[in-house]
Amino acid sequence: MEHKLPCLLGCNTKELEQIAIELGEPAYRGRQIARWIYRKQVDSLDAMSDLPAAFRARLAAHYVLGWPQVVHREVAADGTIKYLLRLEDGQSVESVYLPYPDRVSACLSTQVGCPAGCRFCATAQGGLARNLTAGEIVGQYLVMQRESPRRISHVVYMGMGEPLWNYEATVKSLRLLGGEVGLSMRNLTVSTVGVVPGILALAKEDLPITLALSLHAPDDALRARLIPTARKWKLDEILAACAEYARITKRNLTFEYLLIGGVNDSPEQARALAALLERWKLPGNVNLIPFNYVETPEGFRRPTREAIARFREALVAAGRVTTQRMTRGDAINAACGQLRRRMALSDNKTLRVVSSVPRAMLSSLPEPT
Ligand code: SAH
Repeated sequence: MEHKLPCLLGCNTKELEQIAIELGEPAYRGRQIARWIYRKQVDSLDAMSDLPAAFRARLAAHYVLGWPQVVHREVAADGTIKYLLRLEDGQSVESVYLPYPDRVSACLSTQVGCPAGCRFCATAQGGLARNLTAGEIVGQYLVMQRESPRRISHVVYMGMGEPLWNYEATVKSLRLLGGEVGLSMRNLTVSTVGVVPGILALAKEDLPITLALSLHAPDDALRARLIPTARKWKLDEILAACAEYARITKRNLTFEYLLIGGVNDSPEQARALAALLERWKLPGNVNLIPFNYVETPEGFRRPTREAIARFREALVAAGRVTTQRMTRGDAINAACGQLRRRMALSDNKTLRVVSSVPRAMLSSLPEPT
């Protein structure tokens, strides 16, 4: 079997300095490489024009850059671009580029597939193929930034996968986006299904990011129907971890609430949700996400406009700041997984997708905050 060379993408400046030293160069060569990768997004060692040719050749003998390859892009009328990216081993993930008038945001995946098994999410149906590396997570950002006329200033970890089940790579990628790419940590949002040990660990990382919790139900029984992992951690444990997170980081969380017609969209449920967050003294905003249609055995459907409005009013009346996601990129199936799946069906040879049914979130995307 062919020996796989390690990737430079994913290494921080310190690690790149170490690599330079090991290859007989001064440490500052590592800093040069870091600039080429994270600030200029060059996709070949040869483009690193201030490195001596001999050093570039030595680098090439021991390392690859490790860029994800753009397999497919789809552009919507609103400017949203959906990317299908192929990784070194032939696996693929989806990433989304989201231009708003005041900023550009990127939505990144953290795993190929997902182990969470959420009933309303298409990615879950295929299970987990593997974790992404920190380089593969940041690589999604870099690929999109390379093509973008505008600076991508915001990143949401709301693509395929559960970031806190790929904890080390997720944290490293956050540090790379902050430290190497130079984004403001405050503009980075990690969304979790509620992995308690991950939330508690993240609280201690000293990263001023935003944590978003996918809540979706005001009580354990209903939540367990929607999110199988809810059986492992009860809402009280999850919210206690969130309160601890808020206490340590002094940052408010965001609560995501997926609205499914006739399932979790009643005003009573809105009031129960407000009371639950109140009980845990968690002041964060609630972000309502109308269900983006995915075929499910339960026959889940999108709530009516009226139901969404009533739910929202009940929350607001209970004193909760509430936002609603705008739907973007509908025409291009911005729902992650739809694109990947379609491509896999039409182009088996180049894609080699392992899990057959990936995700379908993200036709609903976060509003600018
Ligand atoms: N695993 C993480 C992050 C990825 S999912 C998490 O659960 O938060 C990002 C968001 O998209 C979550 O809030 C998830 O519940 C939501 N989502 C998944 N499927 C969806 C669908 N069909 N329609 C709308 N939102 C969906």
